[in-house]
Amino acid sequence: MKTAGLIGGMSWESTASYYRIMNEEVHNRLGGLNSAKLIMYSVNFAEFDAFMAKGDWDSAASTLIDAAKRLETGGADFVMICTNTMHKVAPEVQAAVCIPLIHIADATAAAIRTAGVKKVGLLGTTFTMEDDFMTGRLKTLHGIEALVPDKPERDELHRIIFSELCQGIVKPDSKTALLSMIKDLEDKGAEGIILGCTELPMLVTQDDIKTQLFDTTRIHAVKAVDVALEPAP
Ligand code: GLU
Repeated sequence: MKTAGLIGGMSWESTASYYRIMNEEVHNRLGGLNSAKLIMYSVNFAEFDAFMAKGDWDSAASTLIDAAKRLETGGADFVMICTNTMHKVAPEVQAAVCIPLIHIADATAAAIRTAGVKKVGLLGTTFTMEDDFMTGRLKTLHGIEALVPDKPERDELHRIIFSELCQGIVKPDSKTALLSMIKDLEDKGAEGIILGCTELPMLVTQDDIKTQLFDTTRIHAVKAVDVALEPAP
């Protein structure tokens, strides 16, 4: 089994989910006492909140590059950035290390294509919904069109993510708001919904909606196990 290198803490709520899902997945596949081999570098999310508030993506990139290098030096065979938003600087992180970075958009796109879906609704932080590091990559590399909510809903979702979910707060009103955004995206033609923020599964699950849900936390964590268990060439 290969050793995964996780850059976590963004937020730690969802990093805990990665840890659980990866261990459960290894156990389900190999049985017995088998569990995931991994090294984690968990950041202080408040530092990243400050970088994002200032639009200081260079500092975000250099801090993540430092984390990725530590994981590589520590023996990780591949690296994962355990958040959608920080994939904005994924190309810089990948360029700084020799081990592969497992991109969350590519793992999610593979699941979407397997489901035969071409048009999805994308929910996440304003950075994820408005910049093109997710929508552009889905379109250009994978031929998947991503619809996003209107501006007031995008801002409200961003607030829910940072002021509630990343602090472990789950409110019924926020779930109602998210379900209403999902319904609007479905009405606009979305055949599936990407939970493109690793905390959103705290609020909504497949049982809550009719169209297929693409939970990036689970998809990315399961992809890590696929890579870890690939036979050596
Ligand atoms: N975990 C969230 C995401 O998947 C948001 C927090 C962050 O800015 O990294 O985008």
